[in-house]
Amino acid sequence: MPAAPAPRRDAAPSPGRRPSANPWTIDLRELGRRAGALQELERTVPAPADWRVELIGVPAGGEVHLRLRLESVMEGVLVSGEFDVPVEGSCARCLEPIADTLTLPVQELYAYEGSATEETSEEDEVRRIEGDFLDLEPLARDTVVLSLPLSPVCSEDCSGLCVDCGLRLDDLPEDHTHEITDPRWAGLAERFGISETDPHASSPDTSGDDTTKEN
Ligand SMILES: [Zn+2]
Ligand SMILES: [Zn+2]
Repeated sequence: MPAAPAPRRDAAPSPGRRPSANPWTIDLRELGRRAGALQELERTVPAPADWRVELIGVPAGGEVHLRLRLESVMEGVLVSGEFDVPVEGSCARCLEPIADTLTLPVQELYAYEGSATEETSEEDEVRRIEGDFLDLEPLARDTVVLSLPLSPVCSEDCSGLCVDCGLRLDDLPEDHTHEITDPRWAGLAERFGISETDPHASSPDTSGDDTTKEN
């Protein structure tokens, strides 16, 4: 632990580099430090570019809507509320484009510099308030990225793609089939003139033998 307190980086921001110019940064001076003080916060903020997992993510600059309540507590500020986040991607089953809005609840304590919580926790355990400012972006990023599905689907009952022709099954008639003969029996079927639409073609154990006898 350093003997002297670290300089407060945000205490005297230079013009043009004010943290409050970042829309993800919350200026806490209005809330104040009196325990129990409350502030409602609602704002729309552009998403950064890298909130995504393999098949789905938040479009860069997409409008993230914050509905938050800031509550001053002894050790810091408790942030609770919801983020509305636009997501775009493709269905893991049928590859159709997906566009949706996720509503994600958050609740997080940000510790004041010099508070007992700050001194008894690691920086990756409890988020920090820097000077008079609180940065919501890392919280939002963690919340969003952990909520993104690894296998997003266009609908819960998406049937995926036809394994034979690659078309989307939900766009095809319900009785869509290809009547493909088991390749192990294809030669036999051809030799004995079994039509591919012959209902027996799919059970060559019996049809093959029958055909042999008939011929
Ligand atoms: Zn799908
Ligand atoms: Zn097909």
